[in-house]
Amino acid sequence: MPYPEELKKLIKVVESTRAERVERKKANEEVPFLSLDERHEMLKNHPDVKEEGRREVQVGPSKGYRIAHEIADLLEATSRVDPAKVDLGKVDIETDVLIIGGGGAGTSAALLAQEHGAKVVIATKLRHGDANTMMAEGGIQAATKGHKDSPYFHYLDIMGGGHFKNTPELVETLSQKAPSVIKWLEGLGCGFSKTDDGTLKTIHGGGTSRKRMHYAADITGAEMMRTVRDEARNRSADIRVIEFAPAVELILNEHGHCAGAVLYNLETEEYMVAKAKAVIMATGGCGRLHIQGFMTTNHYGATADGIVMGYRAGIPICFLHTVQYHPTGIVFPEQAEGILITEKFRGSGANLVNIEGNQFVNEREPRDVEASAIIKECLGSGKGVPTPTGKLGIWLDSPMIEMLSGEGTVEREFPGKHILYERFGIDIAKEPMLIYPTLHYQNGGLEFKPTADTCVPGLFVAGEAGGGTHGENRLMGNSLLDIMVYGRIAGESAGKYIQGDAKDGKLSLDHAVKYNAEVDKAGVADGRVAPMLLPDYTDPAVREKQLTSHYVGTMR
Ligand SMILES: Cc1cc2nc3c(=O)[nH]c(=O)nc-3n(C[C@H](O)[C@H](O)[C@H](O)COP(=O)(O)OP(=O)(O)OC[C@H]3O[C@@H](n4cnc5c(N)ncnc54)[C@H](O)[C@@H]3O)c2cc1C
Repeated sequence: MPYPEELKKLIKVVESTRAERVERKKANEEVPFLSLDERHEMLKNHPDVKEEGRREVQVGPSKGYRIAHEIADLLEATSRVDPAKVDLGKVDIETDVLIIGGGGAGTSAALLAQEHGAKVVIATKLRHGDANTMMAEGGIQAATKGHKDSPYFHYLDIMGGGHFKNTPELVETLSQKAPSVIKWLEGLGCGFSKTDDGTLKTIHGGGTSRKRMHYAADITGAEMMRTVRDEARNRSADIRVIEFAPAVELILNEHGHCAGAVLYNLETEEYMVAKAKAVIMATGGCGRLHIQGFMTTNHYGATADGIVMGYRAGIPICFLHTVQYHPTGIVFPEQAEGILITEKFRGSGANLVNIEGNQFVNEREPRDVEASAIIKECLGSGKGVPTPTGKLGIWLDSPMIEMLSGEGTVEREFPGKHILYERFGIDIAKEPMLIYPTLHYQNGGLEFKPTADTCVPGLFVAGEAGGGTHGENRLMGNSLLDIMVYGRIAGESAGKYIQGDAKDGKLSLDHAVKYNAEVDKAGVADGRVAPMLLPDYTDPAVREKQLTSHYVGTMR
C-alpha cells in the first residue's frame, strides 16, 4: 500500500529539512557521537534493561541466570520426545559428522569436515538455505586492507561494540581469521562488490573505526549462502542434506560423548535416529520468539532449538541476557513489518529523522545505542511518526542518498529493497522509509571454545547458536564473519575429532530423562515441550476449533 495522505503530509516536513541536512552531511557537521557516559544513559531505553522482561531460569547448567522469559520458557520445558519410546537400537541414519542446521555456519562446517575426510549429513529444519544467512544484506567485516586496517583494530572494535564483555580468545580468532575467510569465499566464487579495477569495495558499519565491510550489493548473505550451498552440492557424494528434518533431541553415548540426534520428519511426523561420531550444532538464532513482543527480521525457523538441545545435554549458556534489536526494521507497510533495512542505507548517507524533520542521533552509533535512541524518540520524547496501524516509527531518509551520490544510486545499490517497496507503490529513491527497532540477533548462546568445542565431547557449536564472540552487542557484519570462521573451525575440529578422540558406545537419552525429571521437580514446565520448531501464529479463535486428535503430538 502506498503512503496514505496523512503520511504524505508528514513527508513534506522531512522534505523541508532535507537540503539543509544534506549540506551538513557534506560538511561533516552532523549530530555528534554520544560520549561513553551519554551512551550509557541512552542504553537505559533499551529493552534489555527492563528487569520485568526476564527471569531466573530454574533448571539446567545455568540455573539462576536471568534471561528473557521467552527463552526461559523453552529451557523450562520437557523434551518433545518421550525418551522411553525412542528405539535407539534402530539407527535410521549413520554418518561421521552430523550437522544440525543448514545455514551459513552449518554449510561451511560441512565443507571443512568433508575436506578432513568425513562423511557428512546436514539435517535442516526447512529447505537448505532457509536461514538467517540467506537474508543478510549489509555485509561481512574483515580487515583486508592492510595499509589502513589490521585485525588488531578489528579486534578492538568488536570488543568495544560488545561493551568489552566479549570472550577475548573468541574475538581474537574471529578478527585474525577474517581476511582468510574473504579469500576463501572469493575462491569459491562469491561475488563481492568491486570497483572497476577489481578492488573489493568496503564501507563503514555502525561502531567500526575503519571501512572494512565487504558486501555483495544488498544481498550479501544470499550470495554467501549460494556460494557455500553450491559447493556442498558439488560434493554431494560426501555431503548429504536432509531437508524438513529438524533435530529435537541430542543423543549421547555411554561415555558421555555426543553421538547423534533424534530427527523429526516434518512431512510424515516420524522420528528418526541419526547416529554420528561428532555433531555440530548450527541452528542459528531466536527471533521468532518475538521477545517482549517485538517484530523480527528472522526467518521462520529461528526458534532457539540448538540452545534448548545443547543446554539439556549440559552446555551452559552465556550472554543470553542481551538480545539485539536492529535499529531499522520496516514498521509500515504492515505486510513488510519487521523486515530489516540494512545499515548500509545509513552508511550511504540516509538520516534518521523524527516527526519534526530533525536528525536526532548520529547514524553510526552502535546498534544498541541507535535502537535505544529511536525507542526514546518515539516513546520518551513523543516525536515518533504514527503509522496507520497504530504503531510509531521514525523516518529513514533514503532520498538523501540520491542527493549525495547521484540519481540511480538507490536502485543500483539497494535493488532488493527498491523492488520490495515498489510493490507497495513507494519509491524509496524519492520517499523516506518508516522504521522501528526489530528483534534481530541472539547475542548469546551456548558456551564454546575457539576450537568450536563445548564441554560435551563430540559436540561442537558454530554460528549464532554460540555465545561469547560478540559480548553484549554484535556489530554489523561480524555475524556473517562469525558463521564462516567458526563454521570452518567446527568442521575442521569435528573432522579431526572423529579420527582421534571419538569413542563409540551404546546410545543413550539418559540426559533427557534426567532433565525432564529436573523440570518436573522444579514444577515449571506447565505442559510445555521444546524445542519449539516453528512459531504458531494461529489466531486464538481459530486455535479453539483445532482441538482434534489430528494435532495431538504434532508441533502444535
Ligand atoms: C535480515 C537479516 C539481515 C542480516 N544482515 C547481516 C549482515 O549484513 N551482516 C552480518 O554479519 N550479519 C547479518 N545478519 C545476521 C546473520 O545473517 C546471522 O546471524 C547468521 O547468518 C546466522 O547464521 P547461522 O548459520 O548461525 O544460522 P542460520 O543462517 O539461521 O541457519 C540456521 C539453520 O538451522 C536451521 N535449524 C534451526 N533449528 C533447527 C533444528 N532444530 N534442526 C535442524 N535445523 C534447524 C534453520 O532452519 C536454519 O536453516 C542478518 C540477519 C538477518 C535475519
